[in-house]
Amino acid sequence: MKTLPAPVEALVESFARLPGIGPKSASRLAFYLLKAPDEVSIELAKALEELKANTGHCSRCFNITLAGEELCDICLSENRSEAILCVVEEPMDVLAIERTGAYQGKYHVLMGVLSPIDGIGPDQIKIFPLLERLKLGEVKEVIIATNPSMEGDATALYLQQRIAPMGIKVSRLARGLPVGADIEYADQNTLQRALSGRQSMD
Ligand SMILES: [Zn+2]
Repeated sequence: MKTLPAPVEALVESFARLPGIGPKSASRLAFYLLKAPDEVSIELAKALEELKANTGHCSRCFNITLAGEELCDICLSENRSEAILCVVEEPMDVLAIERTGAYQGKYHVLMGVLSPIDGIGPDQIKIFPLLERLKLGEVKEVIIATNPSMEGDATALYLQQRIAPMGIKVSRLARGLPVGADIEYADQNTLQRALSGRQSMD
C-alpha cells in the first residue's frame, strides 16, 4: 500500500538518512514542513544548498572555513598559542572544545580516525599534514582529543608513537569522559575538566 505521495516520501527518506533521526522523526519533520509557511521550506532548502557550496576546509588545520578562505579564523588568530596543538577527529569537536572557553592553542582536525576494519589507515586521514606541521618546530605540546573509543584510542597511540620521538610532549584528554561518549556531545564542564586534567602519554 502506497501511503505517501512521492515528494513527501522522498523527503522522509532524506531525513531518515541523517544521524539520530529515525523513521518517526523523519515523518514528523516532513509533515511539519508541509504545514509550515512556505518560507520555512525555502529557507531550509537555501541553507542546505549553500552549506556545501559556500564552505571549505582550512588548508592548515582542516577546520571548516568559508569557501575561498585559505585559513580559518583560529589559524589566523595571533592571540592563540602556536606552541600547543589540540588534535581532534572532526570539525564539530573544535566547536565543542571552543565552547568550554578553556583552550587557547591551535587545532588540527584529522577528518576521521584510524579504523583498519573499515580500511582507514594513516593515508586516509590528515595525519601526514599533521606530522609536516609539527616538523616546523613551533609546537611544544600536542593534546590528543580523539574520542574515547577503540578507534580513538588506537589513533592516539599511533600519533604518540610518531610524535614523541620528535621531542614534542604528547598528552591525552583525561578520562573524565565516559567511554564511548563522543567529545562533541560532552558537556562543557566535563570537557573542561578533561582538558585541564590531560595526562602525558609518555
Ligand atoms: Zn585552520
